[in-house]
Amino acid sequence: MSSSKTAATNNLEAFWMPYTANRQFKQDPRMFVAAKDMHYTTSDGRQVLDGTAGLWCCNAGHSRPKIVEAVQKQVAELDYAPAFQMGHPKAFELAARLAALMPSPLDHVFFTNSGSESVDTALKIALAYQRAIGQGTRTRLIGRERGYHGTGFGGISVGGIVANRRTFGTMLTGVDHMRHTHDPERNAFSRGIPENGAEYVEDLIRIIQLHDASTIAAVIVEPVAGSTGVLIPPKGYLERLRKICDDNGILLIFDEVITGFGRLGTPFATDFFGVTPDLVTTAKGLTSGVIPMGAVYCSADIYNAFMTGPDHMIELFHGYTYSAHPIACAAALATLDTYEEEGLLTRAADLAQYWEDGLHSLKDCPNIIDIRNLGLIGAIELEGIAGEPTKRAFSAFLKAYDEGLLIRTTGDIIALSPPLIISKDQIDELFTTLRSVLHAID
Ligand code: PLP
Repeated sequence: MSSSKTAATNNLEAFWMPYTANRQFKQDPRMFVAAKDMHYTTSDGRQVLDGTAGLWCCNAGHSRPKIVEAVQKQVAELDYAPAFQMGHPKAFELAARLAALMPSPLDHVFFTNSGSESVDTALKIALAYQRAIGQGTRTRLIGRERGYHGTGFGGISVGGIVANRRTFGTMLTGVDHMRHTHDPERNAFSRGIPENGAEYVEDLIRIIQLHDASTIAAVIVEPVAGSTGVLIPPKGYLERLRKICDDNGILLIFDEVITGFGRLGTPFATDFFGVTPDLVTTAKGLTSGVIPMGAVYCSADIYNAFMTGPDHMIELFHGYTYSAHPIACAAALATLDTYEEEGLLTRAADLAQYWEDGLHSLKDCPNIIDIRNLGLIGAIELEGIAGEPTKRAFSAFLKAYDEGLLIRTTGDIIALSPPLIISKDQIDELFTTLRSVLHAID
């Protein structure tokens, strides 16, 4: 090996880190080397309380025995099996269990490897379905400002984050966006679902009038927008959205990559809000973050619309080498067992009030302009430093890490979403640490 290419284990340069300030990180690295239950262990031997379930994904906590054991067993037994024209039993078992968990009629499951792939898959199923039922003019997809649907071209097309869209604009045709629902003037410091703003859904009517319903295939929204700072839908908004879609032959897609698997105190946000979409995207909590995996739900009506033509023909030209990967399936089955045995898919409902009270007790800290919460999600919006957006929240992130707490920031918003196993004492610890962080930063 040429000496110039010899890998130096202490060289941080080669890894181009995702969604990271690479230069800042590499000057002052923050490394996790182990994790157990509610805590990470850092490379300098400290314990860090996980206030974000990794990236909103480790809903069962870390290194849970049943999941670890299932993965270890599976890798030794069946390491890989193709899902194209072949199967393995755990894929079917998992799909059936997932279908049973979701309200009807969402009873068919397509496997992916991430939230981004789930979103692209759902958008493609929506387009192909409209074509299959003779509605081939319906090719437009509608998203929402401040929506995050991952990083694939489909996801950033319907997504509403400027930084994700501006550089790749030429690819993003055939989409439009509803306005977001965030209304701090009327809803700041709301507890739970905000009262005001259901009328923002009427923006979809404007879009329908502009393009005509016959050109629109689907609308995609996060029931609760997570990555852009926890934007909770106003009372009545999602119900009205469902009705407008129904009245106009438009499919409704819920992106439940964050809200799925217990985050709101019900298995899915569709249970929480009592609104059933036509397609649901999931990932993250499906395997509690242990192995990459996503799943897209649809109804038998949608599935059956494809089941025409000669039996030997492929019905949907879509799939991934690692769809229904055996190790991911084993991890997901063990995750579902863990959720079931420990009541984790409804645990957030029991903790929600305690969480809300703790979160809102920070209202008197410096520079707070809004606090919002739902289930085991919380957001603290800070007033940005003039001319230096994101800096104040990033300082809070760094300080919290030093103080033994992992938080996540987006813009000048701190987002919190701990594993669903968090105890009341740990909730107290989280907010006590955050209080001292918020007082310590400029
Ligand atoms: N959709 C939503 C709502 C998300 O929050 C995310 C990730 O945070 C994604 C999609 C993308 O998921 P992934 O990063 O697994 O591709």
